[in-house]
Amino acid sequence: MKSIKRIGLILLIAGISIFTFSLIFPSYEITDYTVNQHFDPIIDGYQIDLKKAAEEGDTSAVTQAKIKVDSYSALRDRLLTTKGDYGVNFVALSSAIRTQLNEHNEALKAESNWDAVIWDAPRDFAASMMRPAATGPSVEMKGLFLFLTFGLAMIGGLMYILPNVVLMGPPGIKNHHVFHEKATNRGWIGWLVFVWLVSFYILLYFFPDYTLGWVFPTDPASQFLKNQDASRWFLYGLMYCSVMTVMAIRMYVKYRNNRYQIVRTSSVLFFQVAFAFLIPELLTRFNRPSMDFKNIWPLDYDFFFNWNLDQLIAEGTLGVFMLVWGIALIVVAVPVFVYFFGKRWYCSWVCGCGGLAETLGDPYRQLSDKSVKAWKIERYLIHGVLVFAIFMTGVTLYTYFSGVSQVAGVDTYDVQKTYGFLIGSVFSGVIGTGFYPVMGSRVWCRFGCPLAAYLGLVQRFKSRFRITTNGGQCISCGNCSTYCEMGIDVRWYAQRGQNIVRSSCVGCGICSAVCPRGVLKLENGPEEGRINDNPIIIGKEGIQLSTDVTK
Ligand code: SF4
Ligand code: SF4
Repeated sequence: MKSIKRIGLILLIAGISIFTFSLIFPSYEITDYTVNQHFDPIIDGYQIDLKKAAEEGDTSAVTQAKIKVDSYSALRDRLLTTKGDYGVNFVALSSAIRTQLNEHNEALKAESNWDAVIWDAPRDFAASMMRPAATGPSVEMKGLFLFLTFGLAMIGGLMYILPNVVLMGPPGIKNHHVFHEKATNRGWIGWLVFVWLVSFYILLYFFPDYTLGWVFPTDPASQFLKNQDASRWFLYGLMYCSVMTVMAIRMYVKYRNNRYQIVRTSSVLFFQVAFAFLIPELLTRFNRPSMDFKNIWPLDYDFFFNWNLDQLIAEGTLGVFMLVWGIALIVVAVPVFVYFFGKRWYCSWVCGCGGLAETLGDPYRQLSDKSVKAWKIERYLIHGVLVFAIFMTGVTLYTYFSGVSQVAGVDTYDVQKTYGFLIGSVFSGVIGTGFYPVMGSRVWCRFGCPLAAYLGLVQRFKSRFRITTNGGQCISCGNCSTYCEMGIDVRWYAQRGQNIVRSSCVGCGICSAVCPRGVLKLENGPEEGRINDNPIIIGKEGIQLSTDVTK
């Protein structure tokens, strides 16, 4: 069994290493053919618009389409003329393409020819120019490389995990050595994983032109699902589901004595694979607006952006259904379900971010900061992000209905861009997941997620959910506090026999699972008596139960 584990570890490391280095496997050669492959469909599209506008006698649309045709044709000619100087290295190549785009646009801006400016994001533009120009084994044998990366890592991961069914002995949670292992106690392995994750997210979010080498091997899966080549977001979705599947199996093995954990893990895995990945990809295949039906504003922060509203309204019945569904989730599902079940119905059973935290993040849950200072920072930060999200959505809707893009001296699109960069990418991705190995598994859920803040406010003030504590049984071992991923000092409540109704509790149930005395119970019950502050009064005269408890 131990040798199976060892081989599994080797395969896992091999898969991850091949994936990491596949970034540099392709080489790129820009030719007339590849340049035209990029520009022809764009220019053809504007030619069609031009013809249609001419037939309808719409002179302004004719002028606009003509400006675009001329601008894209001029940029294409510029790239065809200069392509010989670009080299094959992807960094230099991308830089050369972006320089051409910038020079083209700068010349137009100098003439105030704003309609002709090509507003494509420079790195996305470079990536789409480079895609048809790629060559090399990972581009020509994509299926093989899909196996050598995702396949090897998944097989290795499972071979490393499954022998634990036997090696761990009888069912029961064993968190042996977590504070002695280099991977789980912020040792060098933890820091290495941290650097890998942070670098991965930075490249994925901000450097689409550098990450093509990662994307190519996932083309066969994308072709199969949606009949088109993969994007970086398809790569991310496939990776997310693969990692969650392997780590969910780890959860089944580790918590196999605990039905709550097994059902909950199956639930988050199902919602991730079906709702966040397969359904949106299939909708794209059938030319429908892509939607993750379980993603709720303000976590789904661009739900009210004008491009999304326009797209949904233009789609007809399905689009209107999506719009109504999204709003119903915010105003009905959140308060009603949180009232009956607490925020756990979403954070621990449905949400994709929570799902990754509960699977990939489980080995790191003990690293969450339990200090009062961290609790203070958490409250300021998470509610600050909620206010930011509400403000952004407010100005967005104002702009949508009034057509005025400046609100109280700020530009709506600048606010959206700032939120997208700071919260949507850096906080939720780079920090939210990248920091697992050093700050615990729920960094984003605890400090940043505006939806968690909204769910938490309802949970704190209007819910039937609580964790009851049978204080007399507590032996103060501290397991519950140690493994609370939200940094709640559960033992403090357990020792006093006080119910836990904290807004941050995601109801993962791990505190209850690791308690050797059965002290903690996640319950939904009547609101009356739910908040039992100070059940034990410690005074000069001794220790006594408060009247609330004795009643
Ligand atoms: S208090 Fe318990 S159920 Fe709540 S988040 Fe912490 S470990 Fe999970
Ligand atoms: S794990 Fe159980 S016994 Fe140990 S401190 Fe927490 S409530 Fe008390």
